Amino acid sequence: MDIAAIDKRYIWHPCTQMKDHEDFPIIAIDKGKGVYLYDIYGNKILDAISSWWVNLFGHSNERINNVLKEQLEKLEHVIFAGFTHEPAAVLVENIIKIMPDNIRKVFFADNGSSAVEVALKMSFQYWQQSGKVSKTKFVALKGGYHGETLGALSVGGIDLYKKIYNPLLLETFYVDALECFNCKYGKNRNNCTAECIETMEAILSQNHLEIAAVIIEPMVQCANGMNIYSPIYLKKLSYLCQNFNIHLIADEIAVGFGRSGKMFAFEHAQIKPDIICLSKGLTGGYLPLSLVLTTNEIYNAFYDDYFKSKAFLHSHSYTGNPLACSAACETLKIFRDENILIKNLEKIQKMYNILFELFCDHPNVGEIRQLGMIAALEILEDKENKIKFDPKLRIGFQIYKYALSKGLLIRPLGDVIYFMPPYIIDDDEIYFMIKTTKDSLDKIIKQRGKKCR
Ligand SMILES: *Cc1c(COP(=O)(O)O)cnc(C)c1O
Repeated sequence: MDIAAIDKRYIWHPCTQMKDHEDFPIIAIDKGKGVYLYDIYGNKILDAISSWWVNLFGHSNERINNVLKEQLEKLEHVIFAGFTHEPAAVLVENIIKIMPDNIRKVFFADNGSSAVEVALKMSFQYWQQSGKVSKTKFVALKGGYHGETLGALSVGGIDLYKKIYNPLLLETFYVDALECFNCKYGKNRNNCTAECIETMEAILSQNHLEIAAVIIEPMVQCANGMNIYSPIYLKKLSYLCQNFNIHLIADEIAVGFGRSGKMFAFEHAQIKPDIICLSKGLTGGYLPLSLVLTTNEIYNAFYDDYFKSKAFLHSHSYTGNPLACSAACETLKIFRDENILIKNLEKIQKMYNILFELFCDHPNVGEIRQLGMIAALEILEDKENKIKFDPKLRIGFQIYKYALSKGLLIRPLGDVIYFMPPYIIDDDEIYFMIKTTKDSLDKIIKQRGKKCR
């Protein structure tokens, strides 16, 4: 069977200009094991981005495979209204244990964007049912990313994904981007006191009567080039939200489950968000599932006699899918049994060491940034003057193609190259990942005739 030909004829791939594949074939993957994907010709590719940030413990993980096989023999799916099941019960019991003590309720959905929709609707409806009907708007950050559905795009801060849809979107208050690499205050993320919170403070203080919630990606704006910022920003934001009676929604979809070095990224700032969205790593990268966690206070605003019409009438067909829940249960178990957060410390250090060894003097790397198992390189044409390459050159995309030919899957965000490998990556694989990236970068820049000074 000619998979590539059939694919080309019928399949419209996500987040892809399909014309790019005219002379650059889509790769057909046959199987995965550990950090590697294997194409149909047997070539292996190191998955340095955990297949879009979802995989935690490698492809075809034995433990998750086994629980899925067991669950499959018992129950594949059941309607989640009026019914429940053991994998869901085990999952919520264990997830509540590792949440801040204000978080007491769990709502299920089936992907990240849906979780964001749920969070926004939940916050909005809470205020409608709590006598604060003017609180109808959201505050979001420029550079933020919360998914591709219309509600999620309405709080998204990256023009690339949303600009054309603007006429369809909610009116949202936008706060200045967190620009730590080009800090307007001349600080850096390790010595600042989040001076940039002032635009947030101004918007909240002037408009709090209209604001339902602020949504933020704690610690790292991932889609915005792995933009890491200070936990002080989150601390101050949490304080402002409490002060002005505004919900704080933590979108932990990308940074949750150990990515940032802590189980959840908001822990870096020791804050207690009102609503928390989880997905991606939740099932270890196996199946679509998401959770929206919240407080008793929010839950109680929906709890009343039926004809008061206060219920949260939101659902998805695959909400609370038992297979996905059992994969999530096993994911949490692996964290506990195998001391993943502690074990990752060495890998984090190893990534840091090699990144600095290979890139600290590199003429085209403006910044090496890392938080936990997320690391990124800011690729520039001119490091001294912080000048980017002309986007028309698509340097990041060229590097992606070249690295693939060398057996490495990275997927740069513009000209930011990042690493988000599965946690089972070993030292040699870390070295291969970073060294192959350097070779690819040098090769592409040299081809472009840019001199490395
Ligand atoms: C990926 C992502 C989403 C959207 O999740 P999907 O499952 O892709 O819909 C939302 N927020 C953040 C921070 C993400 O990284």
